[in-house]
Amino acid sequence: MSALAPISPIAFVSQAGASEVQQWISALQAAMPEERILPFEQLDADQLAQCRVAIVANPDPAQLKRMPQLLWVHSVWAGVERLVADLGQSDLQLTRLVDPRLAATMAEAVLAWTLYLHRDMPLYACRQREHHWEAQPYVLPEQRRVSLLGLGALGEAAAAVLRQARFAVSGWSRSPRAVESVQTFHGPAGLAQMLAQTDILVCLLPLTAETRGLIDAAHLAMLPPQAQLINFARGPIIDDAALKAALDAGQLRHAVLDVFAVEPLPPEAWPWSHPAVTVLPHCSAPTDRQTASAIVAGNIRRYRHSGEIAANVDLRRGY
Ligand code: NAP
Repeated sequence: MSALAPISPIAFVSQAGASEVQQWISALQAAMPEERILPFEQLDADQLAQCRVAIVANPDPAQLKRMPQLLWVHSVWAGVERLVADLGQSDLQLTRLVDPRLAATMAEAVLAWTLYLHRDMPLYACRQREHHWEAQPYVLPEQRRVSLLGLGALGEAAAAVLRQARFAVSGWSRSPRAVESVQTFHGPAGLAQMLAQTDILVCLLPLTAETRGLIDAAHLAMLPPQAQLINFARGPIIDDAALKAALDAGQLRHAVLDVFAVEPLPPEAWPWSHPAVTVLPHCSAPTDRQTASAIVAGNIRRYRHSGEIAANVDLRRGY
């Protein structure tokens, strides 16, 4: 009886530093000890020729092209706009990370920074610097209209915690969606309707050809005066010049920005010193290596047993 052919190794392809790559490989290997996961650089010519699965974290697309049998690219990140741009013309299957832990972390961040704006923390920090004693009128959360751009894995989790905190929650998506206790909108007309009834706008959209520059001067002008903004998705979804103009004019009261077109945000960039901006260093929802590895391992086990690939990104749609 002939021995079973050994399964081909899985490539880990990333442009991260050596220590981060090692931490990923250790976590992934611990989650699926039956597999052999090797950094791309350690694969020999035979292994490169056999590889059918790659796990990636910001990969160099040229390295993916060096694996002619590659079928499936599984990202350990939730946002895959760069991969979509790099793989758009290929037949590869693409999976992005959908992790309940990540969604819970993002929901926590949305609640924390919504409360920061709801309870006027930027204003009180400013008043303290001026030794100025004055309280704002209290607004009930039920009277604060918080609107989510994006009702996907992250948007839905954020909506649930905001509802629990008693905010009046709306959400916008591409296709119609029903979410309990959330007023939902979709499509361009739905966006205009939702913006007109928004006090705090939270961006949780993927960056695609359709969402790039979506929140421009015209859309910002649809918000009621003194609305506030949180961007936890991707920088280029919001038109940078239009955002600065709306903040300069006081039309938009405050923006919490975690993501930028160029990261790290260059020292000379205007958001750093704008009095109506809170800058965060892309920290709203970091991937948890352990839970992410367990999810990737589950998907890979299913593929080994049934051949089923858990692809969840539509390359044409862009997310
Ligand atoms: P998701 O599950 O794919 O959900 C995306 C949502 O956006 C869906 O509701 C989708 O509508 C909607 N959408 C997409 N294109 C649209 C359009 N043109 N018009 C209207 N709605 C549109 O994604 P997710 O897991 O929630 O993640 C969202 C993004 O968060 C990621 O792509 C990533 O960039 C970002 N992120 C940031 C961090 C951070 O640390 N800052 C961490 C993780 C993720 P449908 O429901 O109709 O499909």
